[in-house]
Amino acid sequence: MTDRVHRFLLRGAPVRGEIVTLDEAWREVVARHQLPAVVRDRLGELSAAALLLAATLKFDGAMIVQIHGDGPVALFVVECLTDGSYRATVKLRESAAPIPDDASLASLVNADGAGRFVVTLDPRSESPSRQPWQGIVPFDGDSVAELLERYMLQSEQLPTRLWLAADSRRAVGLLLQRLPDEGGKPAATADSRPGHEIDVDGWNRMQRLAETISRNELLTLPPEQILQRLFWQESLHAFDDQGLRFACNCSREKVVGMLRMLGREEIDSILAEREAVEVRCDFCNELWRFDPVDCALIFATAGDLAPGSATRH
Ligand SMILES: [Zn+2]
Repeated sequence: MTDRVHRFLLRGAPVRGEIVTLDEAWREVVARHQLPAVVRDRLGELSAAALLLAATLKFDGAMIVQIHGDGPVALFVVECLTDGSYRATVKLRESAAPIPDDASLASLVNADGAGRFVVTLDPRSESPSRQPWQGIVPFDGDSVAELLERYMLQSEQLPTRLWLAADSRRAVGLLLQRLPDEGGKPAATADSRPGHEIDVDGWNRMQRLAETISRNELLTLPPEQILQRLFWQESLHAFDDQGLRFACNCSREKVVGMLRMLGREEIDSILAEREAVEVRCDFCNELWRFDPVDCALIFATAGDLAPGSATRH
């Protein structure tokens, strides 16, 4: 089972790293969508990047990463929960011409310069003081990795480097991040006790080593071997891995709630034209189907709960 994120620190230097590999969890996403390869691979890279970002945060809830596009791709979206589950989808513009295999990310989402990158943190806490937080920046960069690197520098002031790759079978990402200095000195790390030398070159050295990784190595080697291949001379402090999995939290109850919001009149007008109301989940592609009897039950229940509804029967 390689669907997991592995976190580590470079001993004696303010540098942290993470490697995420998605095999089965990514193939779940791939199997549920019909996407041009170039779009699928960018979604895989964004999935890996979002899970890397989520693992750097001490946060309980959902993190949603989106690229709003003005080109053939209207939206990339990845949602990661603290429990290690994630889901991802893409919305293509219907009128768009066929997408060439070598389409750049900018041509997909920033054709007219109106692309945006959005990160939302939605705390899953009962406390009303914990409001969702959203960061929005204009699209900037030639790759998903560059987009995320610029976002992290701009919004978090954290120098961050990412190496991402995805194909039909795997999505993988490596992150290196320079931790903030404390009062002009590098932040404390696992081994920066008094008397220990601070490894001032650690950040540059780790980046140079990581730059030697190839796309093919990322897509084929187990995560331990990737780290071994890159950092075998370095002293890394490893943390426990977190398992990751695909999960969609859509449900019949949620769709029922949505149909109630639409209202009886709207539902009746759909039923006048077709046999049933059908709602497909964008994330997992599940089809929720409600025939006229199901629909009548939805509104009967809602009616029973409404004030004064007792007179209707
Ligand atoms: Zn779903």
